[in-house]
Amino acid sequence: MMIYLVLLFPVVGYGLYRLLRYFLDKRTQQRRENLIAESFPEAWRQWLIADFPLYQKLPVDLQLKLEGHIKVFVDEKVFVGCAGFEITDEVKVLIAAQACILILNTGDDYFPGFETILVYPETYVASETHQEGVLHTNTVSARAGESWHRGPVIVAWDQVVRGAQDERDGHNVVMHEFAHKLDEQNHRMDGLPVLADRSQYKSWAEVLSKEYERLCHHHDDVIDAYGATSAAEFFAVVTETFFEKPAQLKKKHPELYQQFRLYYQLDPVLWQ
Ligand SMILES: [Zn+2]
Repeated sequence: MMIYLVLLFPVVGYGLYRLLRYFLDKRTQQRRENLIAESFPEAWRQWLIADFPLYQKLPVDLQLKLEGHIKVFVDEKVFVGCAGFEITDEVKVLIAAQACILILNTGDDYFPGFETILVYPETYVASETHQEGVLHTNTVSARAGESWHRGPVIVAWDQVVRGAQDERDGHNVVMHEFAHKLDEQNHRMDGLPVLADRSQYKSWAEVLSKEYERLCHHHDDVIDAYGATSAAEFFAVVTETFFEKPAQLKKKHPELYQQFRLYYQLDPVLWQ
């Protein structure tokens, strides 16, 4: 009898866990739907119009969808000012807008697995210690942003504004760091995010490895050379290029554009 109870315990425990998860997910879903149904504050819209030209290029249905995502993102993420930087609603909205462009059509669960966004006033200096055997080396570098595995996203506000205001230079620190967040959802930051359909993996691997190798060995006037640092950086850099230089990317790298079009379920060429 005792042995049956012991065997049954994990089954009952897992069942209760699934039930609790179900109700928590349902409550989250309801809260999000309520937020999306609320009207978008006019001041927030004016900040987008003033500082994020890509917003105005979106078709109206995607503008409305983005506004809904922004409200949820601002409600669920925690923004922390660093080095004396003050977090305002404008800061939250401009970061949320650029991050949520990435999940506009994908049905992503608002970048799960982390909630904190640290914001520095400007490009900040970070020091890192590397250990190789008994040897410790310390490197110091200036950063516009970074994304910690399962940890916070860190961005410099001056770079956030610059990225938002110039929507055609192929550089956007928020899109870059949040692309890393999408990439790590399968527990590895390796340039292979979770794709919607199993059938996509083969062509994704073929096209991205071919294009990554090409960037490693040849200068490209559309994709920034930083993308050749690693497969993970390639995914983040091509994400910036996809949203900010879609026509050039499609013309010069049509297969790559097609893979990103399928992944993000968006066609930014049409917004130009
Ligand atoms: Zn990166």
